[in-house]
This record gives sequence, structure tokens and C-alpha cells, in this order.
Amino acid sequence: MLCDVFLMSIYNVSSYCVSDMSTRVAVVTGSNKGIGLAVVQALCKQFEGDVYLTARDVGRGQEAVESLASEGLKAFFHQLDINDLNSIINAAAFFKEKYGGVDVLINNAGIAFGVADTTPFAVQAEVTLKTNFFATRDMLTHFLPIIKAGGRVVNVSSFVGTRTLNQCSPALQQRFRSEDITEEELVGLMQQFVDKAKKDEHKQAGWPDTAYGVSKTGLTTLSMILARCLSKERPNDGILLNAGCPGWVRTNMAGSNAPKSPEEGAVNLVYLALLPPGTTAPHGKFVSDKEVQPW
Ligand code: NAP
Repeated sequence: MLCDVFLMSIYNVSSYCVSDMSTRVAVVTGSNKGIGLAVVQALCKQFEGDVYLTARDVGRGQEAVESLASEGLKAFFHQLDINDLNSIINAAAFFKEKYGGVDVLINNAGIAFGVADTTPFAVQAEVTLKTNFFATRDMLTHFLPIIKAGGRVVNVSSFVGTRTLNQCSPALQQRFRSEDITEEELVGLMQQFVDKAKKDEHKQAGWPDTAYGVSKTGLTTLSMILARCLSKERPNDGILLNAGCPGWVRTNMAGSNAPKSPEEGAVNLVYLALLPPGTTAPHGKFVSDKEVQPW
């Protein structure tokens, strides 16, 4: 006990966390399975620092950490449910206290209703946008301030978001592509989609019939907006923030017919996460197969 107090006074931290400010740290959301787990696996091999596998469910997360350990890979675990604001705030405080911030953040957690799912579209719209857009935005709101200089942020979006953009009304397309759209305007548009879907009026309002697609159009646009903000507000910090596509990958979400393995799906995301120091591009782009894609 005395020893704990002594250590805490040396490190000036609370008991659950010993400070390690000089160690670099990477954090991957929703990484107990699928593409997120493959990203953690690749980072354990390629990233010089501590790699955190995070999951909303502690049991599933720890099981995944153990599966990596059986391959000789060391990942750390922290609970993180992006739909729970307290969980986000607790995790951000932990990384701030233990590491002084975060070097690499990969916002991978996401959901999709299966094509055969009979859940009413209004519910699919609300639930899908909640995780893929609004909760991922909450992550960015609380983690961007603690991203260290030279940091890398990757938002896992999808080619489906680009296809969906092209199916929106010309007026909506113009706003999503504009350089002057603000975060507030985008949040308003995403909320409008959910509200219109609840009244079955989304198509008249210029939205396509895909909740997952709209959530990823929103996430890619959000990435572009936040990258512009970072360039303006922290011009000397050299942080690169992009939206990345894994491709079509064999996971629970996408099924067994997809052409890529999770390891192959992780490649583009890890490339964006490990862009070398001093690199200035890509930033604020949608990147697939290591190439900036048209938007
Ligand atoms: P997956 O196998 O279904 O894995 C999704 C992961 O996200 C799981 O670990 C899940 O945790 C987690 N998750 C869901 N909601 C969460 C929350 N509220 N908080 C924390 N974690 C949460 O799907 P995947 O195919 O690997 O997808 C990963 C990302 O890639 C998603 O953003 C997806 O949209 C994107 N993506 C996938 C494909 C593809 O072809 N697979 C293509 C383009 C983009 P639980 O195990 O607890 O549910």
C-alpha cells in the first residue's frame, strides 16, 4: 500500500495507471473481430509502441487479446463502447493520463443491417447513423484534442459512401462536396436523413434508400471537415486525418463471398495509420488501396 502511494507520488498519477509519456500508442475501436482485429494484428507487428485493442464487451475484447498472444503478439486492452459517451470520456482520460495523448487512432467500429433484415427502414436509419456517424463523431470530439503532434487518424469509411453520395440529390451532393460545409451543417443533414426516414419522406428529400451508405457518406464528409479544421487550428502539428476504405472484406458484416481477407482489408488502413513522419499528404481525403479517390 505504502509502495503504491510512493509510486503514485513519483508518477503523479492515479493507481490504475502508471504514466508512460514517452511511449507511442495506437488505439483501434471495435477491434475484437473482423477488420479491426486484423488492424491490431498488423500494428502489433509494424507500430513502434503500445497497441490497444478496444471493444465494447470486455469478455470479447480479452478473448481477442489472448488469441493474438497465442500468435506471439502483445496487444493491450481497454473497454470502449463508442455508443456510450462515458466510455469514450473514460478511455480518452486514460490515454491522456498514461501516455499524454494518442499517436494513432483508427475509428473502425461500425455496424450494418444485413440485406435480408426486415427491421423497418426508420429503425435501421436511426440505429445505423447512431453508431457509424454520431458515435464516431463523439469519438473524434473527445480524442482529437488529445491526438499528439505527428498523429494519424483513420476513419474507416466505405466505397459504399461514395456510391451513396452519387445517388443523393444534386443539392445534397453539392453540400457534401463543398469546401465550406461545417460540422454543424453536416450533423444537421445526417439528423435530417434520420427524421425524414422516420416519416418515410427521405426519398422525396433527395436521400437514397441506404442507411449504411448515408452513414459512410457522412463519415467521409466529416473526415474532410475535421482535416480542414486541424490544418487551420493546429497548422504546425503535422497531424494527418483521412477516411480509409478496407475494400470488400470477409467478416461478420460483409459475409463470406467478399474477395478480401481481413488481413488484406487492413492494409490500406494501416498504411494511413503509419504514414511516415514529415509526410503532408494524403490529408482530408478518402483513400482506397493507398490511392486518393474522387469525391
Ligand atoms: P464486423 O466484423 O461486424 O466488426 C465490427 C466491429 O465493430 C466489432 O468488433 C463490433 O463489436 C464493433 N462495434 C460495433 N458497434 C460498436 C460500438 N458501439 N462500440 C465499439 N465497438 C463496436 O465488421 P467489419 O467488416 O470488420 O467492419 C469494420 C469496419 O469496416 C466498419 O466500420 C465497416 O463499416 C467498415 N467496412 C467494412 C467493409 C467490409 O467489406 N467488411 C467494407 C467497407 C467498410 P461487437 O463484436 O461487440 O459487435
